[in-house]
Amino acid sequence: MLIDGHGRKVDYLRISLTERCNFRCQYCMPEKPFSWQPKENLLSFDELFLFVKVAIDGGVTKIRLTGGEPLLREDLDKFIKMIYDYKPDIDLALTTNGFLLPQVALQLKEAGLSRLNISLDSLDESVAHKIAQKAVLPNVLKGIDMALKVGLGVKINMVPLKGINDNEIVDILDFAREKGIKVRFIEYMENHHADKNIEGMHGREILSKIKEKYTIKALGREGASPSFNYLIEENGYEFGLIDPHKHDFCENCNRIRLTAEGFLIPCLYFDEALSISKAVKSGDIAKASEILGEVLKNKPKENRWNDENNGKMHESSTRAFYVTGG
Ligand code: SAM
Ligand code: SF4
Repeated sequence: MLIDGHGRKVDYLRISLTERCNFRCQYCMPEKPFSWQPKENLLSFDELFLFVKVAIDGGVTKIRLTGGEPLLREDLDKFIKMIYDYKPDIDLALTTNGFLLPQVALQLKEAGLSRLNISLDSLDESVAHKIAQKAVLPNVLKGIDMALKVGLGVKINMVPLKGINDNEIVDILDFAREKGIKVRFIEYMENHHADKNIEGMHGREILSKIKEKYTIKALGREGASPSFNYLIEENGYEFGLIDPHKHDFCENCNRIRLTAEGFLIPCLYFDEALSISKAVKSGDIAKASEILGEVLKNKPKENRWNDENNGKMHESSTRAFYVTGG
């Protein structure tokens, strides 16, 4: 079992497969970064898999593949199959913007993927275009339908932004309910890479938009999930709210993150990271395992988006979401 320096059980590994993306979301990567990591710095699937085995053998039971946009990585289905064949009962999920899903959903399902989170920030073509800075909506909607058709579990992620898509919170909730899938509203997390002009919404503001139409009941956090669940009393639908600005968000944190270049990151907020690149490139399992232990030992207690942090509201992280995978 993997335990961090604060006694929390860590059983969830998120792997960012690439920092590259085919969208330019205003809250994540509004402009193409000055330079991409050269492709040769990326860990190959064989190298990533070596670490995946170390993590699974240590006690990781859930793996999420993310990015950047993970569907841009060639032969993704082969990597999914490698993990699935090693541990078929692993909870293997992927987070994607959905744009390329119509072409690959079936392949991913057949390789062993069980679940997907698809980002959907608007149901209005022009608003979706404004946020992603590309005409994306028709493909994303097709991607959602294709994922459902091939039998993948689907959840929707929405990041509400003031004056941009805040009037669509209920529309997206109703859309998800009608499709029989769960939506999770994610508070915008302030970071240095996002467009300076955007303003996120606090969880309580998101909830009050929903309360204009529905009566909601708080259900609580689902185990170690960062998502706090709510029930709509009128129709029994459950949705989630990911609210890192809330003080109890980090209490049960069970995750570590691996970037495409092999940096093992203990917390989305902080700069700390150790590289496993050299270890996995030389096939040194003992070293990779030692680095994992070190990262766990130094995992911070909590992020600094927390409202109660030194009385300060909404500090900004230097970490790019497209590098850490969100
Ligand atoms: N490209 C994929 C996608 O958009 O789903 C996967 C990577 S993306 C970094 C993972 C998740 O992080 C997405 O749901 C996205 O909406 C969310 N995200 C990105 N930047 C964020 C921010 N500043 N605050 C909150 N969520 C953010
Ligand atoms: Fe790309 Fe996802 Fe970031 Fe949007 S949120 S720019 S789709 S990595």
